[in-house]
Amino acid sequence: MSEIVLKGIPAASGVAIGPAFLFGKEEFRISPRKISEASVALEIARFEEALIKTRHEILEIQKRIAEEMGTEHAEIFDAHLLVLEDRTLIEDVIARIKREKFCVEYIFSEVLKKYISVFSKIEDEYLRERVSDINDVGKRILRNLLGEKKSIVVDVDAENLILVSYDLAPSDTASMYKKNIVAFVTDIGSRTSHTAIMAKSLEIPAVVGLEVATEKISNGDILIVDGKTGTVIVNPDKETLERYETAKVKLTVQKEKFFSLRELPAKTKDDREVLIAANIELPEEIPSVIDHGARGIGLYRTEYFYMNRTDLPSEEEHYQAYRHVAQEVSPHPVIIRTLDLGGDKFLSQLHVPRDMHPFLGWRAIRFCLARPDIFKIQLRAILRASVHGKLKLMYPMISGVEELRQANNLLEECRNELKKDNIKFDRDLEVGAMIEVPSAAITADIIAKEADFFSIGTNDLIQYSLAVDRTNEKIAYLYEPAHPAVLKLVKTIIDAGHKSKIWVGMCGEMSGDPELALVLLGLGLDEFSMPPSSVPLIKQLIRSVAYKEAKKIAEHALSLSTGKEVEEYSSQQLKKIAPELLGENDNNK
Ligand code: PEP
Ligand code: MG
Repeated sequence: MSEIVLKGIPAASGVAIGPAFLFGKEEFRISPRKISEASVALEIARFEEALIKTRHEILEIQKRIAEEMGTEHAEIFDAHLLVLEDRTLIEDVIARIKREKFCVEYIFSEVLKKYISVFSKIEDEYLRERVSDINDVGKRILRNLLGEKKSIVVDVDAENLILVSYDLAPSDTASMYKKNIVAFVTDIGSRTSHTAIMAKSLEIPAVVGLEVATEKISNGDILIVDGKTGTVIVNPDKETLERYETAKVKLTVQKEKFFSLRELPAKTKDDREVLIAANIELPEEIPSVIDHGARGIGLYRTEYFYMNRTDLPSEEEHYQAYRHVAQEVSPHPVIIRTLDLGGDKFLSQLHVPRDMHPFLGWRAIRFCLARPDIFKIQLRAILRASVHGKLKLMYPMISGVEELRQANNLLEECRNELKKDNIKFDRDLEVGAMIEVPSAAITADIIAKEADFFSIGTNDLIQYSLAVDRTNEKIAYLYEPAHPAVLKLVKTIIDAGHKSKIWVGMCGEMSGDPELALVLLGLGLDEFSMPPSSVPLIKQLIRSVAYKEAKKIAEHALSLSTGKEVEEYSSQQLKKIAPELLGENDNNK
């Protein structure tokens, strides 16, 4: 087997080495074996046995997930158990074994194909989503019938697996939390797709947008994933393997060095202190936030709370989760972002039809304002939890001041309800707007008068201002955080916020990029929120430069004409100021 080098989009840095595990692409070779009349009963018994075995396996996984991640994550398996109990499917298989006299695995795989094809064509979004449940359970049953080794991710005991998939939905990555997966590799996706974001919070490397990964890689192939350069090497030769083993060790040493600085303040040489916070998707990430020395959470994405379950979370569940996060992170602040459904984050239990242009559709605050019944449950819970720590709240996808006002009216309704019931809440809770839509950036001066803070969501701001779908790997080269248009919008937002005396933060991935963080510091950004693992590095950067110097760098960056020029210039500046922060590894040479 000769070495193959695949190039994709670097999504989360780091080096991982391990065997490939192809997710959702198992193929079973099943031949139509004829059986005699006398064997019919035996085949039916084998089928029933496989169903029972599968049921036990799912219950076991469900129990383990509930213990490790909480019951809400275990609920996805209820849908799997329902597939196992589907009488129509079971009777269909039994009737066909009797009628056609083929072995059960063949009949079952044929019935499974028919089901999947029928469900895939259904108009109803919710029912269509059941295809993946049927597929999952079906493969599990087949594996048991064929006596194959179990290979569902949550089951495997193998170490250092590299997950290779066409795509990874947020719900897939959420259910893999803390498993033995050491890297993600996908055919599609971009630098800000949720696979990338999740990889960063799990602190594992990821390369996305490889287009042919699932075609070129087979289960068990040894892979090297270099998340910094976007390279995946399949079945590396001895020399390549040794080179990367050394690089991995070097990276660990470097990481430990930055790590040791984590408790120091993020203060420039001339004493301007900024806040370095972290982004989380799941409360399980809090230890990592604290370990990396972040001073709070600048973005708590709450969508994950609604995922992998068949019902909506109750006010009490929201409250318990937010209270927990507030208490754990106290005395530092936690900014809870209200539900940001849509775009690339879908929730099956809400039955929201997919728009033709999901990123421009019925999403985030637009959805929440249209469904106050759902929105107010979350708002009330945030208010109630606000007495247990330093909570702040922010709304996603605000496109103009009217939406902010409408959301604040609903929040006020919640405050009044709580007052009436004598339930305590923090009356000074800061309420901010995410600025991630160009119209909001341009009218930031108007919005700033009615918000307590801004948090710039560059992942979306870049896609909307440059008209580049953040999840489309074909146009990933156009997704340029350093584009002059983006820098000008960021400056407009920061200046508008400061003019109204509110602080301005950034929770998009851009704030964790050392080259650009230098420019952002110079533009006057007050808070940087990023994946926990980037915190020590950015802190080190801030400590290496004078604010005066950063301001000059930002000024010059703003005078440049292209994203490439800005990138080159800021990279040169970084090399001068903090060379140790550049080139985490140089394996692409
Ligand atoms: C953003 O858009 O920059 C952001 C932080 O939110 P998300 O990535 O969840 O859309
Ligand atoms: Mg966003």
